[in-house]
Amino acid sequence: MKALRRFTVRAHLPERLAALGPLSTNLRWSWHAETQDLFRRLDAELWERVRFDPVQMLSDIAPSRLDELADDTAFLIALDQAAAGLEDYLTRPRWYQEQRDGAGRHPAIDLGGGVAYFSMEFGVSEVLPNYSGGLGILAGDHLKAASDLGLPLVGVGLLYRSGYFRQGLTADGWQTEHYPPHDPQGQPLRVLTERGDDPSSPPVLVHVALAGGRILRARVWIAQVGRVPLLLLDSDIPENDADLRRVTDRLYGGDQDHRIKQEILAGVGGVRAVRAYSRAYSRPDPSVFHMNEGHAGFLGLERIRELVDAEGLDFDEALAAVRAATVFTTHTPVPAGIDRFPMDLVRHYFGGHDGGNDSTLLPGVTLDRVVALGKESDPHVFNMAHMGLRLAERANGVSKLHGIVSRDMFNGLWPGFDADEVPIGSVTNGVHAPTWAAPEWFDLARRVAGPELVEEARGWEKLDELAAGEIWEMRHTLRRTLVHEVRRRVRASWLDRGATEAELGWTDSVFDENVLTVGFARRVPTYKRLTLMLRDPERLERMLLDEERPLQLVVAGKSHPADDAGKALIQQIVRFADRHEVRHRIVFLPDYDMSMARYLYWGCDVWLNNPLRPLEACGTSGMKSALNGGLNLSIRDGWWDEMYDGENGWAIPTADGVTDEPRRDDLEAGAMYELLEHSVLPRFYDRDGDGIPERWVEMVRHTLRDLGPKVLASRMVHDYTVGFYGPAASAAARVDADGHAGAREVAAFVRRVESAWPAIAVTEVDGSGLPDTPEIGARLTLTATVRLGDLGVGDVRVQGVVGRAGQDEELTDVVTVDMTHTGSGDGGEIFTADIDLPISGSVGYTVRVLPHHRLLAADADLGLVTAAVG
Ligand SMILES: *Cc1c(COP(=O)(O)O)cnc(C)c1O
Repeated sequence: MKALRRFTVRAHLPERLAALGPLSTNLRWSWHAETQDLFRRLDAELWERVRFDPVQMLSDIAPSRLDELADDTAFLIALDQAAAGLEDYLTRPRWYQEQRDGAGRHPAIDLGGGVAYFSMEFGVSEVLPNYSGGLGILAGDHLKAASDLGLPLVGVGLLYRSGYFRQGLTADGWQTEHYPPHDPQGQPLRVLTERGDDPSSPPVLVHVALAGGRILRARVWIAQVGRVPLLLLDSDIPENDADLRRVTDRLYGGDQDHRIKQEILAGVGGVRAVRAYSRAYSRPDPSVFHMNEGHAGFLGLERIRELVDAEGLDFDEALAAVRAATVFTTHTPVPAGIDRFPMDLVRHYFGGHDGGNDSTLLPGVTLDRVVALGKESDPHVFNMAHMGLRLAERANGVSKLHGIVSRDMFNGLWPGFDADEVPIGSVTNGVHAPTWAAPEWFDLARRVAGPELVEEARGWEKLDELAAGEIWEMRHTLRRTLVHEVRRRVRASWLDRGATEAELGWTDSVFDENVLTVGFARRVPTYKRLTLMLRDPERLERMLLDEERPLQLVVAGKSHPADDAGKALIQQIVRFADRHEVRHRIVFLPDYDMSMARYLYWGCDVWLNNPLRPLEACGTSGMKSALNGGLNLSIRDGWWDEMYDGENGWAIPTADGVTDEPRRDDLEAGAMYELLEHSVLPRFYDRDGDGIPERWVEMVRHTLRDLGPKVLASRMVHDYTVGFYGPAASAAARVDADGHAGAREVAAFVRRVESAWPAIAVTEVDGSGLPDTPEIGARLTLTATVRLGDLGVGDVRVQGVVGRAGQDEELTDVVTVDMTHTGSGDGGEIFTADIDLPISGSVGYTVRVLPHHRLLAADADLGLVTAAVG
């Protein structure tokens, strides 16, 4: 027996049923159908009533029923199996252990003390409503996949008393917001205490010094996500005054002052919570810190403070150590989407009480250094993304296209470099299959491909063995399930909007299980264009009501409470959908969340997405649909730009160059209607003799087989591990060895290079060997003389840059080749290279110098470069 844990839900379980405790509080149940089935067996009707929430279930179930089950041999066998299954899941070596121990494909990967993953929201399950949308769900999927892969990872965020908001509608279709408080005692959470699972140990209280001598305190809750602990800080405790208790009241509510307090708690307090967790459970401190978006960026400042305070490093040395170990992921493709604070607010919280430069919040750190980390073009603004990029040696966007957009958007931080050299990579988001694929698919997959497909995402090609009829039958089943859920929700929504039961008979025949079902569900910022489908309302209506080949459309999404323009878009849809003529074929379902989303991904035949390209950084809902055999009909933006292959769905042509937005909307809406009318609908309704739409089913099969393995969160976490966590962990180990000798060396290097750089010059460039009309492969011998001032040859990299010379002397299609030091001359050091031309025709070349240090990830890192002039 393991030591007693402080589960808040222990209720009144008979001893023999004690295993239900961990089975209900470890959120693994939320993606494990067998465990859900076990809870259903407790009381099927109650299971429906508590909306599939095991903790609620155990609190509501009749004690007499529990006594009965404690004597039910068949149930006890199932219970013991489930408990053993969980124990096995939690302890068996998994993918990461294989790599680390040398048995896998990436034996070099050692994450040391593991990864701390910070995010302002986590959408793990609807029973822990701590998310607003895609960012949070992604973070939840990240934790689950990390758990499945056995990654040593701990999540860090805030516990919001009211989460985001619950959405309702007025009779007139206007969004209303409710903030029902959630009692952590009724959630799958336990309190972090100073000595881990020792029940007599006092709870950990994290302290953060705010301006004006106030101390913000927070309790730390732990949600167990499979093998991964998620630490959630909660300020709603008696030790805080009423004002500070409200710091963690809501997600994305309140003004900038509220917001910065939340981010200080998440970042600075979050690191302190991680330390307390490591102490309590005698775990090693994490080696890598991952900021999921800039919101938690203050974590880097706290880690600098720790190093200054405890290790005696100066700010620059601490910064070098922190940067090596930090990964930053940006999620927005627009400057307006970036988290920014008024500089005065940052001065207020990060300066001294006396108005001085020495930070009270972070003793040993000075305000001017903090300010410099977040500076941008506007001196009155502190930019959290810029700070994230300056604190992290490794950064990424969330799809290939978003990587390109991000390198362009943040090019200003690396002046002198072309956008494609900006050191921001990309990892395309993914989704957690066991959470988002219908259990029916898993049963089928297990049958045709064995457990590998489910557990290790291998064997997808076995889907070829499925008969078309089986696939079609499955799609039909899932569509039917959705139709029932739509009816239930439409009815509940009308009751909520003030209708009476007597008027709602029609809701029993809303939607039809044989009709092509299109889904559109997402948050409602303008770029997602919720109402594009209404661009030509008559045309849409004709499609909905077509006698032979109708379509039905389910729409959902929340608008930010402060965004009246978004609410007006929702109202437009609701008013359209409310009309008698169409209300059986188009519905707007209020309160889009995980519990609803699941049914939409399972049941929709087509997943529609029409953002303004390239404003969708990745998008993940279409991936979830694809995992269920849904076909995407989408603008080529985010993930779809790289994964659309002509057979796995449809690409709505974009009018990228058209700057007149209404005109662009007309063009793109027109293209969307066109595709629906001429491609999508005919393909769905063209049936063979057995009533099967063969060509449709082939697209479904192709989508499952080919997209399936690519859209997985396990692929994403794998990519992060190989491309980011692993390198960051080894970089951190290198700079931290021998009392942070490497960090000191890097800091000294940076100082030396920055002061020496103005004197660096390429004084002479000579190219020889080229014929008059160079062909591809012709050899160019490049020689350069470089003045290095106080720097040595080993401090720099000298590169020849060859490309196609344009009329304005700009080089395109460039190839960059490292040059070798071959001697010293009067004007400086001599470097040479032989370059085989990659192009023909009008060739141009130049030579440039960059700082180079073996402990820095990229030569562009410092943003310094000097090229030959003239
Ligand atoms: C997946 C998901 C999202 C994000 O979808 P996008 O395609 O990124 O807009 C938002 N909300 C819920 C409930 C989801 O499941």
